[in-house]
Amino acid sequence: MPGDGIGPDVSQCATQVLNAVADRNGHTFRFDEQLIGGAAIDATGDPLPPQTIASCQAADAVFLGAVGGPKWSDPNAEVRPEQGLLKIRSVLNVYANIRPVKIYSELVGASPLRAEILEGVDMIVVRELTGGIYFGAKTRDESSASDLCLYTVKEIERIVRVAANLASARRGKLCSIDKANVLETSRLWRDVTDRVMAAEFADIEVETLLVDAAAMHLLSRPADFDVLVTENMFGDILTDEASMLAGSMGMLPSASLGDGTVGLYEPIHGSAPDIAGLGIANPCGAIASAALLLRHSLGLDKEAASIENAIAEAIAAGARTADIVTGGNKSITTWEMTTEIIRCLS
Ligand code: NAD
Repeated sequence: MPGDGIGPDVSQCATQVLNAVADRNGHTFRFDEQLIGGAAIDATGDPLPPQTIASCQAADAVFLGAVGGPKWSDPNAEVRPEQGLLKIRSVLNVYANIRPVKIYSELVGASPLRAEILEGVDMIVVRELTGGIYFGAKTRDESSASDLCLYTVKEIERIVRVAANLASARRGKLCSIDKANVLETSRLWRDVTDRVMAAEFADIEVETLLVDAAAMHLLSRPADFDVLVTENMFGDILTDEASMLAGSMGMLPSASLGDGTVGLYEPIHGSAPDIAGLGIANPCGAIASAALLLRHSLGLDKEAASIENAIAEAIAAGARTADIVTGGNKSITTWEMTTEIIRCLS
């Protein structure tokens, strides 16, 4: 689902890389392109048409570019592109959004933080994706509005287990982020997290942070974090913040997983209307999302690693889109960056 703005550009790059991987490894990937977001509203009046849902449900994995843009962002509009995004996450029941934040040493200069703070940063943010305030009942009248934030014990247990399992396979550290000093949902989050971790993951070191403090610690000591787990809205905000450690929103991939192998894969950025159509969008986040797709939905670990290595090699060789230009490197287009990455594929 290419979506809107720069979504179609970066999706095309990801598709090109997947086809190049298929060529080199004797695979055939079958693609079925469908509408979502503003493009779907324009064509059908619905941000997630039934045909798109059916195609996603029949697929082994779903790739999404990005949705949204000024054309569809009238706050009073009844139909909005983002409704398509929330609905497909819910339809596929992909409740665990996994966002690795890895720093390429050559891009340290592209981050607003000092190099010594960024040394050793390698974390995964696990964001709960199908509950919380984004999905709660909404009200609006002339004088007030409300959004309900609701979490169930089951929703918290399953996301904590996903994060704890990831931590077990890494440095064995889990940081749970909430706002338990103010919010009842956060007090439940903390109780459930403490219980699950003590009962099932006693060997994992658990740290608990309030979200406001976490926002600060992410900038002051990012290398301390291994796996972070948090609820939907906090994760949405903190992952944009964390993207600046990597130098640009355009660098980071995400995988949204449920209980089976079908996943939804998308770069963490939006449709970037300010650069749409200019051919300068960074395709790395989308291409790295395609790598996650190969690993988590198709079980192709070696091929996934070959994409990740190719991105690292292209960057090491000086390939830079405008958002990550550092030092004396000149910027190249979205398509040139993709060609460089394909050239580096093993
Ligand atoms: P954005 O992520 O689209 O852009 C934020 C900034 O980062 C912009 O300056 C943009 O140019 C830059 N940027 C983003 N991706 C980039 C890339 N690949 N290469 C280079 N620069 C990049 O966020 P926004 O501007 O707040 O939102 C724009 C629209 O996208 C809105 O309609 C919003 O609702 C939507 N959105 C969609 C998603 C999604 O589809 N998953 C996520 C976030 C925002």
